This record gives sequence, structure tokens and C-alpha cells, in this order.
Amino acid sequence: MEKILKKILEDNKKFYKDGKVADYIPALGKANIEDCGITIIDKDKNIHSVGDYNKKFTIQSISKIITLMLAIMDKGFEEVFQIVGYEGTERPFNTISYLESEKVKKAINPMLNSGAIAVTSLIKGDGEKKFDRILELVKVLALNSKIDYDREVYKSEKDTGDRNKAIAYLMKSRGIINGDIESTLDSYFKQCSININTIDLANIAFSIANRFEDVDLESHIDKKKLSSLLISIMVHSGMYNFSGEWSAKVGIPSKSGVAGGVLSVVPDKYGIGFFGPSLDENGNSILGYKVIGELSNELDLNIY
Ligand code: GLU
Repeated sequence: MEKILKKILEDNKKFYKDGKVADYIPALGKANIEDCGITIIDKDKNIHSVGDYNKKFTIQSISKIITLMLAIMDKGFEEVFQIVGYEGTERPFNTISYLESEKVKKAINPMLNSGAIAVTSLIKGDGEKKFDRILELVKVLALNSKIDYDREVYKSEKDTGDRNKAIAYLMKSRGIINGDIESTLDSYFKQCSININTIDLANIAFSIANRFEDVDLESHIDKKKLSSLLISIMVHSGMYNFSGEWSAKVGIPSKSGVAGGVLSVVPDKYGIGFFGPSLDENGNSILGYKVIGELSNELDLNIY
């Protein structure tokens, strides 16, 4: 496996030149654009890592999977999907204008910023407690009790997060969400700033692929139903406006974040974590697309 991974990385790492690192959150602009690493965990729980697999980066939008999971564990499927929908969209992740329409009664889906902020508002816990519970779940799924959040990225997110603040307050004015908006936003900025590496991501992906079999979720939720739901959402909305093409060409349910991380789940088989901060115009890792796409062909991982 390591040999295959090394060759795929070697063949593709030159393509970092085709993209750029995210800089709309200033602290993310400091990333090394050439970084590229991957970890894959197989059915027998063997861990295979190559490249910059050990480098830390912030989880960003991949946290939307974790918060969706926690909100469902706290409130159940029905209550969560009363304020977010199931459908994919061509709108960008930070879309706001649709929330103005009187006809709109919920955020489009939990992978958009609007949907993710709505989902976070449902998670139990006042003040700091909300985020503490999110961080705790990340640690449990990643099998890493040392995970923390990056204070510099958090501050940068918060200082420049006016659009996310506008989204949250517009949703409140429309009656989609309620409660303490400032604490929901603070939790959202912190959850995006959680620091991880590809091994952590692969462990989280493996827990989903493995239907949370080995995970004590401290909840009576149907674990299989939960993992199926997360996987189905990743299929149509995990890769921003590229989710359809990613599904067609790579064929592995995945979620990416603007720091360059990609979490990929091959149901009942593999968990994959990838890092490469050079992004395409949709906000997906350029190298992630190339490397995971080739890996999918090489190991015959396309789920369709
Ligand atoms: N913290 C980022 C934001 O809210 C997350 C974006 C992403 O990874 O898609 O803008």
C-alpha cells in the first residue's frame, strides 16, 4: 500500500501549482502550498501514511460532519431536519441571499455555512460547553485526546467572520434558529479551527465507514442509520459546488475544508485523510482530487 501511495503522490504533487491557498481567513494564507500527505486505514485497521501526513492543519468545513452528528445525537434526526434540508445546491458554501425569501423555512443543507451554523445552534450546552462537547467528539472519533483548536486561526475567523455573523442573525430574524447567537457563532469559529493531521482525519473517516462499531457514542442513536445519513450528505454536498463531478469521477463520499483537508469514506472498508492546501476555484484541495481520484482507480474504490 505505501508503495502505491508514494507513487501516486510523487506523480501528482507538481499540480499544486494549479491552485492557491485560502487567504480570505488571513491566518490560512500562511500554509505551505506544496504540502501533500495522506493516511489510509484499511479494514484490518492497518494505518498507511505517506508525505506530509503528520502536518497539522485546521479542520474547517469538515467539522460540519461532526456537528451534524452531535446535533442528531442530541436532538434526533427529525428535529435537526426541521431547520436544515437534505438537498444539494449549486450555491457557494457561504450563500446568504436565499435566506431572505419568506418562502424559505430552513437552511438548504448542513454542509453550507448557513446549515452548519443552524446545526451548531441545536447542539446542547451553554457558552463554552457547546464547543467543548464538539471537541470531545472529535477526540473520541480521531482516537486522539491531544487534539485542540488553533487560537490564531480562531481569532482570524472571528475577526473576519462578518458574513457568517450576518448569516446567523438573518436566520434568527427569520425564526430558523434561536438561542444565544453569539455563543453559537463562537462555537462555529472554534470548531472550524480544530487542529488535526491526516491520521486524525483518517480515523474519523474510518469510524464512519465502520458504522461507529467500536465507538462509544454515549447516545442511543442508531449508529448505522447515522453513518448512512452522513455518507449520503457527503455524496451530494461534501465537495462544495463540485460534489456531483467528484461523485461521478472519484466515486468516494468525501468532505473537504478550505485549509486543504479531505475526509473520504469507503463504506465498510476504508477511512482516508488527505491534506494539500492548494485549492481549486471551488475550495477543494487540487492534490486531493488528483490523489484520491487515482487511488480510487488503483484500488477500485468507486462505490457506484
Ligand atoms: N471557517 C470557514 C468559513 O466559515 C469554513 C469554510 C470551509 O472550510 O468551507 O468560512
